[in-house]
Amino acid sequence: MSPRYLPVFASLLAAAFLGTYLSSLHAEALMRTQAPAVEDVARYAEVSTTSRAAAPSAASRTALIPILVYHIVRPSYPSDSAAVRSLALTPKVFDAEMLHLREAGYHVVRFRDLEAYFASGTPLPALPVIISFDDGWSDQYAYAFPILKKYGYPATFFVFTNAIGHRGFLSWTDLHAMLAAGMDIGDHTRSHPFLTSITDAAQLWSEIDGSKLLLEQELGVPVNEFAYPFGQYDPAIVALVRKAGYKSARGDFYSGSQSSDRLFGLSAMNAPTTTARFTELFPRNGIGACRRAAPAC
Ligand SMILES: [Zn+2]
Repeated sequence: MSPRYLPVFASLLAAAFLGTYLSSLHAEALMRTQAPAVEDVARYAEVSTTSRAAAPSAASRTALIPILVYHIVRPSYPSDSAAVRSLALTPKVFDAEMLHLREAGYHVVRFRDLEAYFASGTPLPALPVIISFDDGWSDQYAYAFPILKKYGYPATFFVFTNAIGHRGFLSWTDLHAMLAAGMDIGDHTRSHPFLTSITDAAQLWSEIDGSKLLLEQELGVPVNEFAYPFGQYDPAIVALVRKAGYKSARGDFYSGSQSSDRLFGLSAMNAPTTTARFTELFPRNGIGACRRAAPAC
């Protein structure tokens, strides 16, 4: 862990905000990179074109929409741990990935676009992709936010409320500025726990619903998307997320395909940390095939 983050975690741990978070940061990354291979991009292009041309009439809809998950965008430090390096991109690499999406014909959409497509068949653009950020690190505001604005890309920032305003994390002021610039704020619980390990019903509801109420109260906008910490969930937790009024939830294990049957278990993937991996995953105009042998590709 970079010395820069030591005081961050020291203060957070002292406040007993997220005892499991530090030791589990890498686990969250590994859970996503152990996902199945994405379908080849030829199929991706085919389905994307279909979704643009006509809304299917069946109750169940599918769409190939990669959901990228970013954690850390900032300059690298020699002292960065393996856990940090597995999740971190330099601003230069992040900018290159965003530029590549534009040049290769991809269209950045929001979770609400996916929800609208599933709910009523609202057409999606060709080669859609969703960009999301996890955990509310302040570096995301400092380095990724300006680049997103430069390209006019909306992204969803999933934050856990106990960290907001603390050193190293986004502030309420940051979140307001991001909303004003067209970004979305999603819910990532209060304390970033393993939800499936919580046995106290009131605590679980507070993590799922209490955080939503707090975000909506402070931000003055509906917060409709949820991301399970560590991608961990089960049917009981899905039921609570639905009950709380969320419209969709980002899960784990990237399959390359989203389904209206899994609106509360949308598949995501950690964004590649090199442009080589990224351009392999997102070939120009969707032509070509993603190499199945490559992890998370
Ligand atoms: Zn997280």
